[in-house]
Amino acid sequence: MPELLVQDELNVYESAEARFEIAASKLDLEQGLYRYLKYPEREITVYIPVSLDNGRVEVYTGYRVLHSTVRGPGKGGIRFAPNVTIDEVRALAAWMTWKCGVVNIPFGGAKGGVICDPEKLSRSELERVTRRYTAALSDWFGPERDVPAPDIGTNDQIMAWVMDTYSMHVNQATTAVVTGKPLDLGGSHGRKEATGRGLMICCDKAIARLRMKREDCRVVIQGFGNVGSEAALLMHEAGYKIVGVADIHGGLYNEKGFDDVRSLHEWVYSQRKPIADFPAGGLKLSAQEILFRPCEILIPAATENQITTKNASRLNCRILCEGANGPTTAHADPVVDEKEIFVIPDILANAGGVTVSYFEWVQDRQGFFWREREVNERLQDVMEESFDEVLRYAQIYRVSNRIAAYVLAIDRVSRALKLRGFYA
Ligand code: NAD
Repeated sequence: MPELLVQDELNVYESAEARFEIAASKLDLEQGLYRYLKYPEREITVYIPVSLDNGRVEVYTGYRVLHSTVRGPGKGGIRFAPNVTIDEVRALAAWMTWKCGVVNIPFGGAKGGVICDPEKLSRSELERVTRRYTAALSDWFGPERDVPAPDIGTNDQIMAWVMDTYSMHVNQATTAVVTGKPLDLGGSHGRKEATGRGLMICCDKAIARLRMKREDCRVVIQGFGNVGSEAALLMHEAGYKIVGVADIHGGLYNEKGFDDVRSLHEWVYSQRKPIADFPAGGLKLSAQEILFRPCEILIPAATENQITTKNASRLNCRILCEGANGPTTAHADPVVDEKEIFVIPDILANAGGVTVSYFEWVQDRQGFFWREREVNERLQDVMEESFDEVLRYAQIYRVSNRIAAYVLAIDRVSRALKLRGFYA
């Protein structure tokens, strides 16, 4: 097995690469294929001048990385956050390639980001940042080239602006250029809940394997955005016991489980109040501390690098189901494995989002829309099959679930690459 070549534990690109290296060696990947898949196909940096509401002009830096188009167009979110880096976008783009491989959908991998703080921008400033970023990439995006989606700091309204800007540039309404759009604009039923639903389907599979029951499972969720809050709502309704939730400002741990997660959701989203102040709450904790509370299922659904060598030994869960991308560092993997925690790795666990994005792209291209039940049933099939495949690969290659997911994905992408051959 190759040595873990990670200089900086918190560099997500190095973390992603380290897992790729291990999986590629397990698979005995040919040198040529290895070199091809190791690097992104294209990267671009754009400098986006935007007039702020006060008349000042600010220039924002944006990135887009296309990791792979071997199995189909690039696919991946756009992140608006103050700490976006090119290395982070590179890692996220590669993860998208592997994620689409794991769930076997015909996309490659891509990701984008703009260094900005969406919480400090007005709605019209946010619109101008989005439109200028999209305009700069109007030759790059396209339903057959690269299809963005929401990620941290972006939402369905922002995707609507991406769709409109692109459509203006190509002179035709092109809904399939972006996914995660509002329902009134070619969005798909079930997309908003898809990532959370996918997490729950994976947890259902894991507990069945471990002979556990939903009602006996205490669940802690870090991150109460699109992924975390939808997972909390769905899992609560399904009978899981949600005992802890946190967002960036902190959270609550309630040993007995929250009675009413919908009220908590309204508290945060309609009343715009802090989670920690929710009445009938529980113990107030920081977003970090919540990770180490006792539970059966821990769902980190916020951001990268939450579980590291410094704290992994403090985990107190049976199942780690990764809602966020890269919440566990490569260096922390062995610590988690030693504790015999059942890991549902990010590129499997949170793939429900891209799966329903794929359904949205299909529906937009067909101009024919499915009922929510149909979307959810197809999602269930994809997630269950992918879960079983990852576990089958773990057995065949005698590796952890995480490395098995990479091996499965690299296997699928490299088979497609072999069939295509190397152009020129
Ligand atoms: P979001 O912006 O809707 O929500 C992010 C949540 O995490 C917020 O509650 C925020 O307060 C919290 N948070 C941010 N930084 C934090 C920190 N340092 N500590 C604790 N909490 C923190 O984003 P999202 O769409 O829910 O995405 C969350 C994660 O899931 C990201 O890693 C994203 O890449 C991944 N993901 C999202 C989707 C999707 O469909 N939205 C799909 C797959 C993976």
